[in-house]
Amino acid sequence: MATQRRDSAPQPDFAHLRARMVQDYVAGRGIKDERILQAMRDVPRHLFVPTLVAAKAYGAGALPIGAKQTISQPYIVARMIELLDLTGKEKVLEIGTGTGYQAVVLSKLCAKVFSIERVNELALRAVELIRTLKIYNASVKVFDGTYGWSDQAPFDRIIVAAAAPEVPKPLLEQLSRTGKLVIPIGAEGNQRLARVMRVGTRVQIEDCGTAEFVPLVGKFGWKE
Ligand code: SAH
Repeated sequence: MATQRRDSAPQPDFAHLRARMVQDYVAGRGIKDERILQAMRDVPRHLFVPTLVAAKAYGAGALPIGAKQTISQPYIVARMIELLDLTGKEKVLEIGTGTGYQAVVLSKLCAKVFSIERVNELALRAVELIRTLKIYNASVKVFDGTYGWSDQAPFDRIIVAAAAPEVPKPLLEQLSRTGKLVIPIGAEGNQRLARVMRVGTRVQIEDCGTAEFVPLVGKFGWKE
């Protein structure tokens, strides 16, 4: 009986799997921005998820990434980025680096990404991958992201990948005057995706549908 050696096993055609993921679960669910679709065709999502679940990297669902956290489903990543209305020139703050997948997709669609992760081991892995992929416009730091990143503020856009009890005040303060902030709000099982915009001295909040995220844990988030 012929045995196949591990190192000669054929590699799946990842580009093909990615194109199908984008077609079925992203474009197929209503995301039209071709720049976002192309960025998601380009970023090798399977490298970001743990080996154990890599076979599901191009499926429709969220996946566990260790430290009790998850990488969002492809549609949600695209939807949140779509809500940011990026033109390519923006300075973006992301809270919740996780695997770094969303940060890398963002890096293709804006000028500079600053991303904060509270779990050291996740941030380290993300930084390594960002370096391997030769992405030079994304920086990651380990910190409580509910404080924002004050010495880099203001930000044109802020995207929060974990659900908060309310919009953390420092993030609002670090948003530029014409900025947009996308954040899931609410307790587990009862979250809404919100888009927050500053209009003069007022804050306008738009409800963008139901959401399902891990909690944002920190000083201006949920308590540990
Ligand atoms: N965007 C990620 C997935 C994020 S999951 C990706 O593409 O893989 C949400 C992440 O938010 C988790 O990694 C969690 O550790 C992190 N997180 C939760 N509270 C945080 C806080 N206060 N500051 C920074 N990161 C936080």
